Amino acid sequence: MKRGHCSTCCEGAASYDREEAVNQTIERAKEILTRYDGPHCRIMEVCGTHTHEIFRQGIRRILPRQIELISGPGCPVCVTPVGYIDEAIWLALEKGATVCTFGDLVRVPGTEASLQTARGEGAAVKVVYTPLDAERYAAEHPDEEVVFLSVGFETTTPSACLAVRKAQQDGIRNFSLLTANKTMPGAYEAMKDSTDLFLYPGHVHAITGTGICEKLAEEGVSGVCAGFTASELLTALAVAVTRYQEGKPFFVNCYPRVVRPDGSPKAQSLVAAMMEPCDEEWRGIGIIPDSGMKLKESCQMYDARTRFQVPEMAGRANPACRCGQVLKGELLPTQCRVFGKACTPEHPVGACMVSSEGACSAWYLYGQNL
Ligand code: SF4
Repeated sequence: MKRGHCSTCCEGAASYDREEAVNQTIERAKEILTRYDGPHCRIMEVCGTHTHEIFRQGIRRILPRQIELISGPGCPVCVTPVGYIDEAIWLALEKGATVCTFGDLVRVPGTEASLQTARGEGAAVKVVYTPLDAERYAAEHPDEEVVFLSVGFETTTPSACLAVRKAQQDGIRNFSLLTANKTMPGAYEAMKDSTDLFLYPGHVHAITGTGICEKLAEEGVSGVCAGFTASELLTALAVAVTRYQEGKPFFVNCYPRVVRPDGSPKAQSLVAAMMEPCDEEWRGIGIIPDSGMKLKESCQMYDARTRFQVPEMAGRANPACRCGQVLKGELLPTQCRVFGKACTPEHPVGACMVSSEGACSAWYLYGQNL
């Protein structure tokens, strides 16, 4: 301990100062937002976690009418296509594979069934928390074929690659990925005309860096990169509307404590070594060129589609479901005819009602408090 420095009192004082600074930031940002009197501004919350946090923290309630928040395509479960669920069920029922998946995917509807209902017909479906859990399960059960449902964006793709690398190192041959990994730049391109500016997902850009956001700003597409606390979200929104009034395209990284300009080179090189871009279908949106990632030729033995010769499955969504329009910011969840009636979190008709990051589930949970 330094002379004259009491760790308890001084650190307590420092933490009090930090809390004070955060409170002041929150108050300043709230003031900017509530007093906003500029042009109408449509902001796309690309990320489902942003949608939920903005609701949960009551931020929507303080925004004036000119600031409109719309949902975007950044919930990985919501954009996973119907045909992908059909493929997973086929692998479980026809090939007897043990399907390992994140919990949310289990209830996402396929054409005729979900993985949950397929369980009733004998499908082996195991919920895991990471791809490495699935690889470990495969190592412990050499008599089973284990398929991990690899969905998600730039944030989760490196961990799927790590699991494949671990399987290679361990000599595990009964493990594979059914890939539906997606990348955001194609989605930004596809969505850029639906919004005035993007609220970019901080965790995605912690991996990719901010180059794509800078490039979009040069092309006239504005946005701010945001974190997930109340202070970070309010600050990002306040910066966004302040800069928007200036009338020039901009990009501001409002999450610099996590997002660096060059992102995570380590994660980028891991993915680049094992995966390559491919065209990818987004539920309700269609195929976006080069917006997916699939395993490279050198990792083909870990690709479930190659390994099991999975037939092409187009998949058919429930005709009542409007997830595609919700994910493009064209429709509020409450404008879907079956919202809160036939479609609830207990009985989801579409993927946006299933996931904890889904826009429909956010509106169902918090929308009545608006
Ligand atoms: S309320 Fe249900 S059916 Fe309607 S768009 Fe949302 S998830 Fe799809």
